[in-house]
Amino acid sequence: MNVPKTRIEDLLNYVRKEKIITREFFKGKISLEKRNKMFEKLILEYRHRIFPEDSYLFDNIGEFWKFLIDNNLSTDCVTHEMLHARKAFLLGYDIKYCCRMALTDDGRIAFLPSINIKDTNEKMNKEDLLAIISATDVLSEEDKNMIEYLKE
Ligand SMILES: [Zn+2]
Repeated sequence: MNVPKTRIEDLLNYVRKEKIITREFFKGKISLEKRNKMFEKLILEYRHRIFPEDSYLFDNIGEFWKFLIDNNLSTDCVTHEMLHARKAFLLGYDIKYCCRMALTDDGRIAFLPSINIKDTNEKMNKEDLLAIISATDVLSEEDKNMIEYLKE
């Protein structure tokens, strides 16, 4: 892994905006076309701050685990992400594990783990998304917020 160029503050803002677009789409407030346009705009807006090379994708849990170990990163997140991934897999989705790296203001390396669900644009529905987010034993704050919002 190279030292990330992305700053954590930018990454957190970017991810927050990404989540808002996602939840508005699944809530039925914006169309697929509109959603894709908003994502394009977001990527463009952050093109000098979010560096694609700071995002790592893994086909399976073993590779994800190895990446964390090799880079002296905490593996606390692995079980949590695996439970999301397993549910997605059981529902018929292709997934990848994702690790987005960033630098903190004091120069430390931080990361955001997640799962990427592939080819979901047309076929994924709100119920499946809710099931995937709810699949872990301990929900993160982000998970809770998304569930609350989608359920309303
Ligand atoms: Zn989660």
